[in-house]
Amino acid sequence: MNPAAYAELDLEALQHNLEIVRRKAPNAKVMAVIKANAYGHGLPRVAAALQDIEAIAVARVDEAIRLRNNGFAKRIVVLEGFSCLDELQDILEFHLESVIHAEHQLALIKEVRTDKSFAVWLKLDTGMNRLGFNKEGFDLAYGQLLESHIIEKPVRLMTHLANADDIQNPSTLQQIDEFKQAVESFSGELSIANSAGILAWPDAITDWVRPGLMLFGVSPFPEETADNFELRPVMSLHSRIIATKQLNVGDAVGYGSQWRCQKSTKLGVIAIGYGDGYPRHTRPETPVLVNGVRVPLVGRVSMDMITVDLDNCPEAKPGDPVLLWGQGLPVEEIAACAETIPYTLLCGITQRVQIIEK
Ligand SMILES: *Cc1c(COP(=O)(O)O)cnc(C)c1O
Repeated sequence: MNPAAYAELDLEALQHNLEIVRRKAPNAKVMAVIKANAYGHGLPRVAAALQDIEAIAVARVDEAIRLRNNGFAKRIVVLEGFSCLDELQDILEFHLESVIHAEHQLALIKEVRTDKSFAVWLKLDTGMNRLGFNKEGFDLAYGQLLESHIIEKPVRLMTHLANADDIQNPSTLQQIDEFKQAVESFSGELSIANSAGILAWPDAITDWVRPGLMLFGVSPFPEETADNFELRPVMSLHSRIIATKQLNVGDAVGYGSQWRCQKSTKLGVIAIGYGDGYPRHTRPETPVLVNGVRVPLVGRVSMDMITVDLDNCPEAKPGDPVLLWGQGLPVEEIAACAETIPYTLLCGITQRVQIIEK
C-alpha cells in the first residue's frame, strides 16, 4: 500500500519535457538545471532519467559531489562555483565545471597547487546584480583565465536573466544585447536562457540553454500554465482521506477555529500538512482533488493534516485518494492560491513525503 502522503514522479514526462526544450532550441545544447534536489524530485534519480543530456547544472559543490558519488559521469556545472580553496580542490578532484563570477575566485585559481585542470563558465552580470562581473571585470577575468594553465580552453560565457518570466519587460532584451556585445570579440560557447528565456525569448537561445522548472512540467509564467507549452507535470503530490465527519452550522474547524460552518457540512480530513511541504498560508478554498473532484480547503493547514469541505463529493470516505497538485491540478494554480511560485512548492517537499516512480 502507498504511504499516506507521497509524490509520484512521471519520469517519462521529464523526458517529454526535455523534448519540448529541444524543439524550442533545436540547435542548442542543454544544461539541465537540477539544483535543490532536482526541484524536490530527487537529484540522482532525475540526473539518471535525463537521457542524452549534454550537461547537468547544480547550485553547489556538495550537490555535484553527491551526483558523482552516485556514479553520474556526465558533465556537471556548479552555478555558484567555488568560494574557498577546499571547494576549488573538490571541483578539480571530482571533475566539475565551475561558474566564475567574482574576483576572489581568480585569486584562488592563482593560489591552488594542482596538476589538474577544469572547465569554466565566466559570468557577466547584465542586471541581475547577484553573481557575475561587470563589463570591465569580465574583460580582465577573461584575460586571466586564458593565461591560467589550470583552466581548460575555450572559456565559456554566460549571463542570467532577471525578468524573463515577465514577457512585457523590455529589460530582458537589454540584458541579452549587453551580453552579446560584451562577448563579441571573445571565442567560447554562450549561455543565457533559463526556462522562461527558452519559452518566450528566442534571442536568448544561444549555444547552451539552461532549463530548470520547465523540465519538471511547470510554467515559469504567472499567467500561463504548462499545457500551453505542451509540458507535462512530473510530480503529482498525493494523499488520502483519513476521516470524515458531519458538522453543523456554527461548528469551527482546526487551530484558531478560523473557519466556521455556514451550513451543515461533510468535512474530510486529509493526511498532508505543512510538515510535508503543503503551504501553510494558502488561501481558504484552495482546490484539492478528492476522487478526481475539486473540493475547497477549509480551516487552517496544520502540520500533518488539512481539512476540506466534501459537499461536492458526498460519497467520499476514509481511504479515498486525494491529489494536492500535479496531473489534473496544476501546481501553478496552487502556488497562486498560496501567493508563492511553483518553485517553492516543488522544492519544499519534505523528507517525510515518499517519492514513488510511476
Ligand atoms: C535556477 C537557474 C536556472 C534555471 O531556471 P528555471 O527558471 O528553473 O528554468 C538557470 N540558470 C541559472 C543561473 C539558475 O540559477
